[in-house]
Amino acid sequence: MGHEGAVAQNGGMPESVDVVVVGSVNRDLVIEVDALPAPGETVRGGPAVRLGGGKGANQAVAVARLGRSVALVGAVGTDGDSEALRAELAAEAGDVGRLAAVDGPPGHAVVLVDRRAENCIVVSPGANARVGVAAVEAAGALRTAAAVVVAQLEIPAAAVVAAARLARGTFVLNPAPAPSSAAELPQELWSLVDVLVPNRGELARLCGVAEASLAGAELARSAAGLPCERVVVTLGAEGALVRDGEQVELIPAPAVRAADTTGAGDTFCGALAVGLAEGRTLTEAARFAVRAAAVSVTRTGARTAMPTRAQLAAGSA
Ligand code: ATP
Repeated sequence: MGHEGAVAQNGGMPESVDVVVVGSVNRDLVIEVDALPAPGETVRGGPAVRLGGGKGANQAVAVARLGRSVALVGAVGTDGDSEALRAELAAEAGDVGRLAAVDGPPGHAVVLVDRRAENCIVVSPGANARVGVAAVEAAGALRTAAAVVVAQLEIPAAAVVAAARLARGTFVLNPAPAPSSAAELPQELWSLVDVLVPNRGELARLCGVAEASLAGAELARSAAGLPCERVVVTLGAEGALVRDGEQVELIPAPAVRAADTTGAGDTFCGALAVGLAEGRTLTEAARFAVRAAAVSVTRTGARTAMPTRAQLAAGSA
């Protein structure tokens, strides 16, 4: 299915897309430094690289790369950079018709990366903080028969709940950035989540345990303790753990030479949504996502590293 279907209007009703992503759009400013600055210190960095980012936008691009139609529901600002973000997304993911424009700047992330690939990130939510319930409810894409709706937590929780209520297909929540505990998320949201996709750190916070303790049987036990029957925990180079009701399975990642893991989680979530939209079981969709994410870590950048369907089929994992 091509992307053009996403923007076509049919008697005022948007045509259905395969996946709707409800989430953030950021302008990332990435600067390489020899060593991250200590408080009060000024350090000299390399060239400032301006990239499109935001978990919502990245996951939408991951879906589009894998050949499925996608609509992104979110907000940018009204400045020139917001227009640039729209144009970049239109080129990469097709449909930006559901991005609201709110006064002020778009979301920004300032990312400092040192030689060991350790990073330090400051996020200024900008327009993302103003994605409201009304804007989500007005998004026609959510009223269509999209097979999968994906959200993260870089927009207000009330907007995420509104999206979950409207979702007719599978509702996937990537709880990032992690809330301080499971109780911090509205109770209603837990009742609406079909599939939860945390990384190990996010799972630790949701369960109130130390991240280092989440290995082996303890990992499976923690995933089983969440108020959600279907969970996929991403485990970096170890792959992913799938809990589907009573069934628990570890899907190992293929051994690859990792060049840059930025955006691996977003590639994984986008690919998982594609797999589910294509009618795969949760385990099969996670296998597909593990393959797609493995390709993404062999290349640099977040979006630039995301594989196309043809590249996956060519076995570049
Ligand atoms: P990021 O914040 O870097 O985008 P994340 O912390 O959200 O990532 P991870 O669990 O680190 O998520 O990675 C997501 C998925 O990417 C993993 O489940 C795995 O499938 C794949 N992956 C990450 N690192 C590697 C690696 N070194 N080799 C192979 N696959 C990897």
